Amino acid sequence: MLGAYKHGKVDSEGEPCKCMKPDCMVCRIFDPHKQPKHNLGPTRILFRDARLTDDSKRVLAGKTSEGMNYAEIKTENIINRATGVATSGGLRTQERVPAGSEFEFNIVLRIFEGDDEEGIEQFIEEGIKLLQNESLGSSGSRGYGEIKISPNGEYRVSA
Ligand SMILES: [Zn+2]
Repeated sequence: MLGAYKHGKVDSEGEPCKCMKPDCMVCRIFDPHKQPKHNLGPTRILFRDARLTDDSKRVLAGKTSEGMNYAEIKTENIINRATGVATSGGLRTQERVPAGSEFEFNIVLRIFEGDDEEGIEQFIEEGIKLLQNESLGSSGSRGYGEIKISPNGEYRVSA
């Protein structure tokens, strides 16, 4: 399903859509990539900063004695499949958010006259589902970036 979602919306260089077509949900919602002059109006979505919840702050603050400072360090290596030996130059260290950490954030949809409000909401909900089925960021195949987004409180505010 991700392939169908991605089809035509990411170019061969990996950049987001910049077609500027009025019926393109990616350009309508996020703005055409690197196209400051277009007739689609302002960006329809705002992602506010995600902040660690107080509960997660307490849990992670208790782990500073384990060497954690609100993040964990994971060291990985590449193993040659034929020899079973670590590949030279494959050792790397990643800093990541510990599993179970919770954040609060807001996504704001801006709906203007003439917008397909239902279509925009459906598009974003579908994107969130895909994100939850895949991963946030890179290295999803190694277990990184598994997320769950739960509406908490006011899901939608109408003007
Ligand atoms: Zn587009």
